Amino acid sequence: MNTYIDIGINLTNKQFHDDIDDVVQNALDADVAQMILTGTSVKNSEASARMAREYPGVLYATAGIHPHDAKSFDAQSIAKLRDLLKQKQVVSVGECGLDFDRDFSPRNVQETCYKAQLELAIEVQKPLFLHERAAFTRFLSITKEYLPQLPKAVVHCFTGSLQEAKTYLDNGLLLGFTGAISDTRRFEHLKEVLQYVPLESMMIETDAPFMLPKNVPNSLLKKYHERRCEPAYLPYVAGTVAQFKGISLDKVAEQTTKNARAFFAI
Ligand SMILES: [Zn+2]
Repeated sequence: MNTYIDIGINLTNKQFHDDIDDVVQNALDADVAQMILTGTSVKNSEASARMAREYPGVLYATAGIHPHDAKSFDAQSIAKLRDLLKQKQVVSVGECGLDFDRDFSPRNVQETCYKAQLELAIEVQKPLFLHERAAFTRFLSITKEYLPQLPKAVVHCFTGSLQEAKTYLDNGLLLGFTGAISDTRRFEHLKEVLQYVPLESMMIETDAPFMLPKNVPNSLLKKYHERRCEPAYLPYVAGTVAQFKGISLDKVAEQTTKNARAFFAI
């Protein structure tokens, strides 16, 4: 039997309000043994930490401020995140980074908020869950300033170019892949990226309820919840990795799980 770890789900999203227990159980039934809830703001990180505490050993959480929420960053934010990071189910700092695609927060505010969280990760020595969209150059240059002291870091939901992937790996970062990799029309280039990235340097995630993998069979969608992505679909992300790399699903499950356990110390 394979075991999978979903390193990024948004279980506090309102799409899951009515059936959290079922969603977790469906995931466990699909061999997804552990899941990490992504914290995207102080409030959301607090909610994620609370939810994770209800399922010890199964759910974990990150604590951080997404670049979209950087405008909510204030003088109390870091102290509140630091407090959350003292809880043992809160295993990672983030998600944090830069998003110049949608610019929901001003870029200079995003940068201030990101740097403060890099400093927090150095202080608490918990791994970083990073977000970068359309901001590669600036993101890399800020991250590199802190790199010598940084704990381990993963750039989650990677959809960038092969050159960007190479640069991240060369700087010691890991990459997280979602169901986006099965969208071969929109993200055709990711096949080449996945063939390049060593299995030892990647982890997998569903980013549920977003990023529904294209290869989930309709019968399964009907059984659970149509059009909503769930952590139970993580094996389909692994399936695409296996297909692109020409290796067995077992190998992908085994190594990505090993990576996630070591990375998050779970
Ligand atoms: Zn993200």
